[in-house]
Amino acid sequence: MSLDSGTNARVLIVDDEPGNIRILKEILGNDFQIFFATDGEKALEIASAERPDIVLLDIMMPGIDGFEVCRRLKAGPMTSAIPVIFVTASISEDDEAKGLEIGAIDYITKPLRPAIVNIRVRNHLELKKHRDMLEKLSTKDGLTGIANRRFFDTMLEQEWRRSSRSRSSLGLIMMDIDFFKQYNDHYGHLMGDRCLQQVAKRLEESMERSTDLIARYGGEEFVCLLPETDLEGLELIGQKLRQVIVESAIPHEVSQVADHITVSLGGVSLKPTQSGTPSDLIQLADEALYQAKSEGRNCLIIRAD
Ligand code: GH3
Ligand code: MG
Ligand code: MG
Repeated sequence: MSLDSGTNARVLIVDDEPGNIRILKEILGNDFQIFFATDGEKALEIASAERPDIVLLDIMMPGIDGFEVCRRLKAGPMTSAIPVIFVTASISEDDEAKGLEIGAIDYITKPLRPAIVNIRVRNHLELKKHRDMLEKLSTKDGLTGIANRRFFDTMLEQEWRRSSRSRSSLGLIMMDIDFFKQYNDHYGHLMGDRCLQQVAKRLEESMERSTDLIARYGGEEFVCLLPETDLEGLELIGQKLRQVIVESAIPHEVSQVADHITVSLGGVSLKPTQSGTPSDLIQLADEALYQAKSEGRNCLIIRAD
């Protein structure tokens, strides 16, 4: 985005003083889609629902203050990438350091100098756009460093076609961490993120063939694509992955299946045909995973075609 094309960028302004919101709206002009909130709770709600491109955040507000709003935005998987700029009357060096330390990208003090505020916001929006573009081109998941969903989808298409030509078996295992919501609620989101990183690392280390692929499918779900793998091989690898997570012994005090992190797994192996599609594989693995959940979790269910 060039400096004169802020059009359609979505800006959330948070300030308990409506007059300040009005001033910021004037400064930003008509090129933006503006959302606003006059307290922290509402700000978090709007940020999750609308996913703005940037948040302009006051610090001193009744209820949860700007620092806490920023912390929670940075801790949420859906909101952590949204840049936050503090716009505040506080010129204290400590406040500014604290704001930047908890993840804000900039800190602007009042009284506001309109031209400067306008350009700073546009600059940060431009950087955000570049980051989003890189993210789109990337094949790796930002949090765990393993392959992302996009890369997995590409490989699945490719392997489906290849297996269909060579009439070989294609295996797929879907995995989902058990009681992960409780893990987040009990240990906090940052620990949750760390747990996902550890699980991803263990899974990836367990891959033996160079053609096997582990990817983050979304949230706390992982997927393993296994070319040339029949039901017997699938069982072997599935049990190994389940065991590797058990052995990594990541404490989970509030899990209802164990005192450590476990995964449930659903596997399928089939011979792709011209008439079928890759989503058949996903759907069967998904059904098997659902069954693993309902049969007690921390287990592997395999579906034959
Ligand atoms: P089940 O055993 O049935 O799978 O229960 P569950 O709690 O694991 O499943 P549920 O789908 O209810 O909850 C998944 C949780 O995973 C909720 C969500 O906040 C969390 N989660 C998803 N992505 C991330 C992430 O990137 N980081 C963190 N910390 N948590 C995440
Ligand atoms: Mg899930
Ligand atoms: Mg789960």
